[in-house]
Amino acid sequence: MKKLLPILRYRGVEHIEFEKLDRHNVKGILLDVDNTLIDYHKNLSDKIVKWVQEAKNKGFKICILSNSNKEEKIKKVADALEIKYIMFARKPLQAGFKKAINLLELKPENIAMIGDQVFTDVLGANIANMVSVYVDPIDRKEYWYTSWKRPIEDFILRKVR
Ligand SMILES: [Mg+2]
Repeated sequence: MKKLLPILRYRGVEHIEFEKLDRHNVKGILLDVDNTLIDYHKNLSDKIVKWVQEAKNKGFKICILSNSNKEEKIKKVADALEIKYIMFARKPLQAGFKKAINLLELKPENIAMIGDQVFTDVLGANIANMVSVYVDPIDRKEYWYTSWKRPIEDFILRKVR
């Protein structure tokens, strides 16, 4: 149960405070894509582009860690943000997280995983000993294969603030 609780929680990526990440000794950031960076229609908001730019300027190492196997979609987001990407990560399984640790050349405890799903992003990050950051999904009208989990996630997240 404890492994399902995020360390930090925000309304969206653009609301994440860099000082808070600093206080948790975060030096690297992993970003989920679907419903974290882009909505159902694959739109990437200017606010998020600006936030990622600012994070890079502040010296954070950033990489996408997505479960998606749609390379065209993931690459487009990565190119727009000018960051690297790891796809088909199969979060919460650990192989993708290990790949990301090697890519960023950081210790897991210095990496924040930012995502909108408790059972993939938060659980995987907590198992990896990373700083788990939950963001509310951009779009609630989403893929049938994730929507069934939302009521359970709401129940769990009610325990965090
Ligand atoms: Mg997602």
